[in-house]
Amino acid sequence: MHLLDADLHSHSDISDGTLAPEALAARARERGVELWSLTDHDSLAGQARARDAAAALGIGYLSGVEVSASFLGRSVHVVGLGFDPDDEALLAGLRAIRDGRHERARRIGEALAEAGLPGAYEGALRMAGRSELVARTHFARHLVEAGHFADVHEVFRHVLADGKPGHVPHAWATLREAVGWIRGAGGIAVLAHPARYRYTPTEEFALFTEFAGVGGRAVEVLSGSHDRAEQIAYADMAIEFGLLASRGSDFHAPGESRTELGALPDLPGRLTPVWEALADRVRRG
Ligand code: AMP
Ligand code: MN
Ligand code: MN
Ligand code: MN
Repeated sequence: MHLLDADLHSHSDISDGTLAPEALAARARERGVELWSLTDHDSLAGQARARDAAAALGIGYLSGVEVSASFLGRSVHVVGLGFDPDDEALLAGLRAIRDGRHERARRIGEALAEAGLPGAYEGALRMAGRSELVARTHFARHLVEAGHFADVHEVFRHVLADGKPGHVPHAWATLREAVGWIRGAGGIAVLAHPARYRYTPTEEFALFTEFAGVGGRAVEVLSGSHDRAEQIAYADMAIEFGLLASRGSDFHAPGESRTELGALPDLPGRLTPVWEALADRVRRG
């Protein structure tokens, strides 16, 4: 099971990816993924399509979501895996987060206008198209298309990352809520890409303590956002906090995402893969 090519973190055009769930499933299969999860931000609208596409292609599927949460003034992402996608409390919690995104997007637009980049709110909404939600990714794609920046990574570096002019504070769900909804729906909560948060060591220890304390059971050790040293550091953290380990590319878009679907090393043998605890939840054709 360690050597299974599992990719348990990816996005479709229902959130801030650019491929439809069916196209993403086909791409995962082409890249050799054997167990896949579509983990759109704050939405389950793609789950049935992803599950059916995976079944038609003969790859395993776990229900998935990436829930936006706040901790110590920063955004933290909690991936949920193997839950019941019809769970009412989970659906209601995600709906509330999506609702909050509209007002936040307006404030991001105002902040960008003050920074000399007018019209970004409208541009982001255009980029979001039929997406269920508007994300910073859509702002970034708009600003690239409008010629202000070379690529989305540049946009984040200069204006959208924490502390930059277009970043506005926002209260997402608490960790307790995010983990509680996932657990309540029968799934496992996974702390996503911990290296991305740039906490101090003390804050990071507090994050892991709180996450495990409210019932989080796994951490993404292998992520498209982690370099080799970070993979090792978070493998150690998984052991220290008794967490299962997950593996996910966080693929969003061809030509934009740096890590392709399924293109990660194998989990270190000393860790227990999260999918071993979810074996009875895997859907197969
Ligand atoms: P939001 O949920 O609106 O805060 O947007 C967060 C999304 O922005 C993440 O899920 C990523 O898709 C994207 N993102 C965050 N940081 C970066 C970055 N440095 N480079 C590219 N994309 C990023
Ligand atoms: Mn995203
Ligand atoms: Mn994330
Ligand atoms: Mn993600």
